[in-house]
Amino acid sequence: MAFVELKNLNKFYPISGAEDFQALKDVNLSLDKGELVSIVGESGSGKSTLMNLLGGLDSQFSGEITIDGQNMSTFREKDFVNYHKEKIGFVFQSFNLVSHLSVLDNVTLAMTLSNVDKKTRIARAREVLKQLGLEAQYKKKPSQLSGGQKQRVAIARALVNDPDIIIADEPTGALDSQTTDQVLDIIQDIAKTGKLVIMVTHSEKVAARSTRVVTIDDGKIIGDIRQGELALHDNAFGLQQKSKSKNLTFLAAIRLALLNMKEKLARNILIALGGSIGIMSIIVMLSLGEGVNDYLTETMNANVNPLVSEVRMPIVIETNNSSENADSSMMIMTPAGAEIPAGSAPSGPPAGVTQSDPFGEENLEELRNIPHVAEVNLAYSSLTIGSDNVIYEGEKYAFMNFGTTSGMTDSNILYGAFPEEGEILITEGVANQMAGTAEEAIGKEVTLDVTVDGESLEKNYVISGIYSAGQAIGAFESVYMSADSFETLTAENNLEVEPNVVYLVSDDPDNTQAIKDEVAALGYRGSSADALASTFTQMLDIFTYILSGVAGISLFVSAIMILTVLYISVVERTQEIGVIKAIGGRKKDIRRIFVSESFLIGLFSGLLGVGIAYLITIVGNIIVENLFDTAILNMTPAFAVFGIVTSVIISMVAGLMPAQKAARLDPVEALRHD
Ligand code: ADP
Ligand code: MG
Repeated sequence: MAFVELKNLNKFYPISGAEDFQALKDVNLSLDKGELVSIVGESGSGKSTLMNLLGGLDSQFSGEITIDGQNMSTFREKDFVNYHKEKIGFVFQSFNLVSHLSVLDNVTLAMTLSNVDKKTRIARAREVLKQLGLEAQYKKKPSQLSGGQKQRVAIARALVNDPDIIIADEPTGALDSQTTDQVLDIIQDIAKTGKLVIMVTHSEKVAARSTRVVTIDDGKIIGDIRQGELALHDNAFGLQQKSKSKNLTFLAAIRLALLNMKEKLARNILIALGGSIGIMSIIVMLSLGEGVNDYLTETMNANVNPLVSEVRMPIVIETNNSSENADSSMMIMTPAGAEIPAGSAPSGPPAGVTQSDPFGEENLEELRNIPHVAEVNLAYSSLTIGSDNVIYEGEKYAFMNFGTTSGMTDSNILYGAFPEEGEILITEGVANQMAGTAEEAIGKEVTLDVTVDGESLEKNYVISGIYSAGQAIGAFESVYMSADSFETLTAENNLEVEPNVVYLVSDDPDNTQAIKDEVAALGYRGSSADALASTFTQMLDIFTYILSGVAGISLFVSAIMILTVLYISVVERTQEIGVIKAIGGRKKDIRRIFVSESFLIGLFSGLLGVGIAYLITIVGNIIVENLFDTAILNMTPAFAVFGIVTSVIISMVAGLMPAQKAARLDPVEALRHD
């Protein structure tokens, strides 16, 4: 039995809307190793059809093709892959070299697909290239070679896996006569090593150098002439049988994708830039959320005891002019100005005094009964304009906010200590004015002049420490004393002052929020700090929604963009895909190459997005720090990782369809050049 046997081979091409076209009609042919067979015939006679069937690029036929005793009708995808890897080498009229790969990479491609180790790969490729007179060219790109050199590279690629059969469809069709001779010499040499070489040709001169000429006309064999034999000799190409074929590794696929992307560098940079916008928006958004959250938490924790909830009576609008019940604050972050009634300009005592309503006994009872409230601390606080002063060495230093220290934490003390009986805390501004520096003021004796319940009270106190409003914005100059000191002060003046601020101490920090919620449900007001924080959080939420919208849209756009670009890439690389299939690349390998490309695009977009986001956080923080004295963008490593992973996932999902399309390409279509 001959090495290749064709029996009653028929080929029909389906034509839509018409009868099938029969391109091969009952072809019978036996071919053996060591033969150099020329297939001749007019254009359209069926030569390429026959080659494609023989080479296993087209598996639709009727009749029988037997290669080395194996019936091709029984082949499955895996068998075709092995057939291409081990038995067949293709040489095409238009060379079909992969333009973005070097000569060496073109020749080693088949071995890369089989995961032959790099050293063996290069050694074998260089050996073959050397025998074909290309040792000086292996680093060049195909575009830097002449036609004859290109075809020799293609022959090297066909030979490198040491196949039994070389199929050459018009290998000299694109060459001038001198290079035709060179290539024919090589092809003859190949046949002499005991391979079966089948070549399609138009040229009589070419046909004359073969051992056998088969003539096809209109799909039928009309002539088969043997014309001498070749003097067979040993394996001139010195190739030992290759190792069992394995598969394309992911790393090799990445390298192939990288080589292709490098070829279209500008385009890929632009794509990555476009893709990075969405990722950047997400990261900036997350960083902003994190930064603001950090800032709020820090501010709150620095100034507010996590166990304590501040409570005030609800605002009741009275028509009585001078005792309007606007907010007052003994704590931090009173939204300045807004809460000072316009009608309370200083026009003599007790003008300009604003304070919350006092708590009645029933209110206190109600608050005491809130679950998890362990302690109820009563306090007093008032906000005045123009009437409260610290008098030191005969000079008056005005302050606006007066209150008791109930509910303060150690972190509210910038310098010095909590005030004992007969002592007060003052804010830094007042201290600076009266003593030059805050520390200087500590220990100084001053006269305090405050208006309580419409009465102007005076008493001497020692400054025990400096009150810090933390990072709070818009804190008023303030004076604080302990609740006991306050009681003494009012008692000495025969005043009975009800508490207008209550601090509820929770049994556990985790229960503080529940207490705050209950306080709100009962109709009381919480601290202005809480109110400010929640306004802030709401604003941040709105901002986050807007940014997520932007991020979402740009991620979607970049996914579409990547999809489009990969589709274009598939079209551009059609020929390469055909070559890969012809030399034994599986669908899976081709998919892998394209998935690698989308992985790389995703990775680069992600990295770029993270980089840009990082720059934005740096610049943004510098700007915000100038305005508010605090950084507001906090980009954590987790956000960077999240951004890159998101980018890679989106890109790979977008790449699935193009990769699938590439894997399904028909190699005959892909390699056709008309
Ligand atoms: P050759 O290589 O000898 O020039 P081909 O084998 O390419 O000829 O084509 C043989 C005949 O089959 C031609 O008439 C051609 O039009 C037809 N043919 C080739 N490929 C297809 C196809 N995919 N669909 C339909 N007809 C085809
Ligand atoms: Mg043809």
